Amino acid sequence: MKTNKATASVVKMMETKRPAASSRNSRPAPVETEGDIAPMVHSILEHLGEDPSREGLLRTPERAEKALKFLTSGYTMDLNKIVNNALFDVEYDEMVIVKDIEFFSMCEHHMLPFYGKAHVAYLPTKKIIGLSKIPRIVDMFARRLQVQERLTQQIAETINEVLQPRGVGVVLEARHFCMMMRGVEKQHSGTVTSAMTGDFRERKETRAEFLSLLRMGDSRL
Ligand SMILES: [Zn+2]
Repeated sequence: MKTNKATASVVKMMETKRPAASSRNSRPAPVETEGDIAPMVHSILEHLGEDPSREGLLRTPERAEKALKFLTSGYTMDLNKIVNNALFDVEYDEMVIVKDIEFFSMCEHHMLPFYGKAHVAYLPTKKIIGLSKIPRIVDMFARRLQVQERLTQQIAETINEVLQPRGVGVVLEARHFCMMMRGVEKQHSGTVTSAMTGDFRERKETRAEFLSLLRMGDSRL
């Protein structure tokens, strides 16, 4: 059941946590000017030896700008708004697990996509979060320039802050275009990262339960 008390305490907690959260994710606020990136894409096309005036490329700079802004829209997402009204007081202390959350991100080293599945689990104390909110928290951090390790950690830390559970476990399986299309060209290699807090870190049984629940069903890419 939803209670105002729970919502209020979360809002308060987030306000006090703000400095830490923003320093962790500190970046200059993106300048929201329409059309500011398109001329640079136009220039990139020229530098690549392309002819930006040919028919197929005419509107490419604007389309690329739109795509880039969408793929990095996580910078301007507001955690308070995402979580808003979706914390519930429930007497439930078993593991909650959301598997196979598709995510798409961009590697910060090459600005090429990496994508895969996130598996998120936590052990509630008194509060649970609306299940649909967990994929939105994943998106908030995936839609940025990232490395997979930090993305994994930020998801875990954020759920930890919001719910203050007994522990959080996050596993990300991903494929990186910068590995698949260039350089080593290992097209079938996947990268797995994990972040564990609380009981997931300290209790072998909790971690084992989480990992065995992940193996149930096919969660591979
Ligand atoms: Zn890369």
